[in-house]
Amino acid sequence: ALSPRQEVTALPIYNAGISASTAQQVSGRQDIAALASNENPYGASPAVATALRSLVPSRYSDSASGALRQALSDKLGTATDRIVCGNGSEELIAALCRAYLQKDDTVLTISPCFGLHEIEPMAAGAHVIKVPMTTAFDYDVDALVRELARRPKIVFISSPSNPAGKALSLPELNRLLDAVQPATLFVLDEAYFELIDPGYPDGLKVLTQRLALSWVVLRTFSKAYGLAGLRVGYGISSDDSIAQAMRACLTTFNINAAAQLAAVAALQDDGWTREASAKIRRDRAILADRLRELGVRVVPSQTNFLFIDVATEAAPVASALLQKGIIVKPWTEASYTNFLRVSIGTAGDNERFVWELGRALGMA
Ligand code: PMP
Repeated sequence: ALSPRQEVTALPIYNAGISASTAQQVSGRQDIAALASNENPYGASPAVATALRSLVPSRYSDSASGALRQALSDKLGTATDRIVCGNGSEELIAALCRAYLQKDDTVLTISPCFGLHEIEPMAAGAHVIKVPMTTAFDYDVDALVRELARRPKIVFISSPSNPAGKALSLPELNRLLDAVQPATLFVLDEAYFELIDPGYPDGLKVLTQRLALSWVVLRTFSKAYGLAGLRVGYGISSDDSIAQAMRACLTTFNINAAAQLAAVAALQDDGWTREASAKIRRDRAILADRLRELGVRVVPSQTNFLFIDVATEAAPVASALLQKGIIVKPWTEASYTNFLRVSIGTAGDNERFVWELGRALGMA
């Protein structure tokens, strides 16, 4: 029989979660609380719908995402030729692995980690070293510094972290950057950048000072901007040769025309995004308090989700919640199988989750 490459045979399929339609079938309910994928419960800026009226579906999209890269360049103060747009930031993670990894290269990340920070390097035949976070779910900077000295080809670090939720402080980020060797590409995945509390560093500004290092900052329109379904992410790189290499590894018309129009409009409606993010942060604090009242351990979060320890296998708890029409993500990585990740939804969805979780854990 025809066999794929050995790396591909061994590859886990990314757990993209359960769809609302499946949840409707399983629960027999129409009103699904979709709290597994860290989407924005408030949708997107109304400016997006207006912009989509000028969509011309018969024409190919701009393969260079020119207007979007220009809008990002204006906002971030970075040259357009250092910016690359992807079909979600996950496409950029894949492109980086395709561009830079050879079989048996080493990639460094943390655990628990965002699944694709492990799966994409594995697909390229690389070995992935995962440094566990501390028991308090802080980044183990000492251990990461030791691993950086061994010059991994790529480092993928999400800050704020998915799934744990904390963000790197400025001293922590600087200690890591001091340890990055010239042979290493440092990828800072800031998918949740817009949701962090004041006082945390802007990774792009910090990295921009590091002229001697090779780095990429990844961000996305899927979270605070509310465009998860349209699939748009972007990367800013330390120099245009990295952007060029990534672009060479993308499909030609990788971002469709609707998504490009929507992203430009969303980017320009800063006020809407700030307001939605503020509401999510407020509800994050309320949900965390309610869960702690239930006696559940909640990791402090700088994101639109919480990582919670249910003190029992999380998968059956998630199944019980699914029966009630609530989708959450039980963590499957070794050492973390007592944890659920739950997105911050509307206030109503959050209350429903707390109530049903209490029942599932036998507390109500
Ligand atoms: N990075 C991190 C850390 C994420 O949590 C996610 C989404 N869950 C992504 C990247 C990918 O986001 P997207 O492809 O929707 O831009």
